Amino acid sequence: MIQIKPKSSRLASRILKKIQKFACVLWNRTFRPFQDRANGLICRYSRPMPSVYIKTYGCQMNERDSEAVAAQLVAKGYTLAPSEAVADVILLNTCSVRDFAEQKALNKMVNVIAETRRNRPDVVLGFMGCMAQSRGQELIDRLPDVDLVLGTQKFHRTADYLGELLAGQRDKIVDVAAEQGSEATIREHLLYGNAAKYGDGHRPPLQVTAFVSIMQGCNQYCTFCIVPYTRGEERSRSIPDIVAECCQLVSQGVKEITLLGQIVTSYGKRGFGKAGSPLPADGGASVPASRFVSGLAPPKDDGAHGVTRPTKSPFVQLLDAIHEIEGLERIRFTSPHPKGYGDDLIEAYARLPKLVEYAHLPVQSGSDRVLKLMHRGYTRARYVGIIEKLRRARPEIGISTDIIVGFPGETKDDFEQTLSLAREVEYDQAYVFKYSQRRDTPAAKMPGQVPQKVREERNQRLLEVINEIARRRYGAFVGRQTQILVEGPSKKNPARMTGRTRCNKIVVFDGSERHRGQLMDVKITRAGSFTLYGDPAILGED
Ligand code: SF4
Repeated sequence: MIQIKPKSSRLASRILKKIQKFACVLWNRTFRPFQDRANGLICRYSRPMPSVYIKTYGCQMNERDSEAVAAQLVAKGYTLAPSEAVADVILLNTCSVRDFAEQKALNKMVNVIAETRRNRPDVVLGFMGCMAQSRGQELIDRLPDVDLVLGTQKFHRTADYLGELLAGQRDKIVDVAAEQGSEATIREHLLYGNAAKYGDGHRPPLQVTAFVSIMQGCNQYCTFCIVPYTRGEERSRSIPDIVAECCQLVSQGVKEITLLGQIVTSYGKRGFGKAGSPLPADGGASVPASRFVSGLAPPKDDGAHGVTRPTKSPFVQLLDAIHEIEGLERIRFTSPHPKGYGDDLIEAYARLPKLVEYAHLPVQSGSDRVLKLMHRGYTRARYVGIIEKLRRARPEIGISTDIIVGFPGETKDDFEQTLSLAREVEYDQAYVFKYSQRRDTPAAKMPGQVPQKVREERNQRLLEVINEIARRRYGAFVGRQTQILVEGPSKKNPARMTGRTRCNKIVVFDGSERHRGQLMDVKITRAGSFTLYGDPAILGED
């Protein structure tokens, strides 16, 4: 929980901070230029460009947003600080999906304030992302030391706002307004990570995989979810804009692209954003020009046989366009909605070799009654049918899911149905969450809230089933040869390298930097908990 300072102490600290800022501005604006000129400096400010540290909570969308913000700031001359202890700007990119995630970010900011304000009062502190969007000004009211609150449609304004705060032109900034076209502003990448830490002349290693944001927002309004309120309505980028970004990444050495969105299978269903960007000089040559006229191909008919073929959804048209990029080896996407798995998408799995054998299909519950309460829009039978079709199209496909236990009104029998679904589908991996009440969502006010203890018990029981199935499925890989894309050193043991199978399993093996970026075959020798271990396969071996 946040500790709120007494009013008098907050007032005193605010006044002290204002005096310090005023002195700083006075010095920067009035005296420092004279000093610089006297020293014969060209630059008006003697201080180097500020450094920024971004801490990210939550999903891959947030990771991607943080990367884009960092890249935008680096382009403006900022450096990336290796830790908050030495940063001039500290930003927390927040998540609202569970109360726990919000409390974590709030507590972190309380600690950051305690550490920075005493000795480094001019450090700029900010919240951005989902919690910033949903709470806005309230965050500054509760934590007056925070300088910046930036909503989910305002990431591209970070540099401007930080400039104003650092220059002392503004004291506080809260901007959580909607902005048309903001979905097209998340496009910068930091392919070489934090280049600063490698020093001059040392080129950091290449990033082999990249995330590309294709849309923002969600229109599904699942009753437990806060996303439609924090990320707004669905807005999609245009196909040319996305293809251009992918081409650029591939030209820089990226081999695998993951398309990102809150619900990617709804891509393009509600029109495209107006913003676009020209193709890079080297990119897009292999993509037919027709794709770039309107962005979307017209519905197709089968003239030869007089049969109307199903129209491809905008998302499948996007997959088709990206698949044609020369040099790109693999395509992934997350997260889809089961409702979006039409036959055109299943057929795309069978048709597009670069689309890997992996699908993350959030089911949330195995009970039709609970699915209805959740407003998910599919039944268990429809969901299982999709998985059967996917497995027929690609027998090797890896399937993962999200499941919520303890949703309001979930009975013992409903939970048993979730257990039976997990056994029936045999997931390779499942992310299990205890239901968390989110304010202003319909489920928060539903009758039959499940006690915390019961949620915990169900969480534990489901995890046991999921882990037991995963052990079996991972174990089945032992002795087999499989292709991986080598991403870099293992996080747990940097002396070893790590890669990913097409079906999204991590493989750790003895290798070196020369393997980075290679597609290579490995023989699996051992299976651990959600990790495989292997040896580079030698040609001619069984
Ligand atoms: S589809 Fe996903 S992001 Fe959208 S409301 Fe439902 S759970 Fe939230």
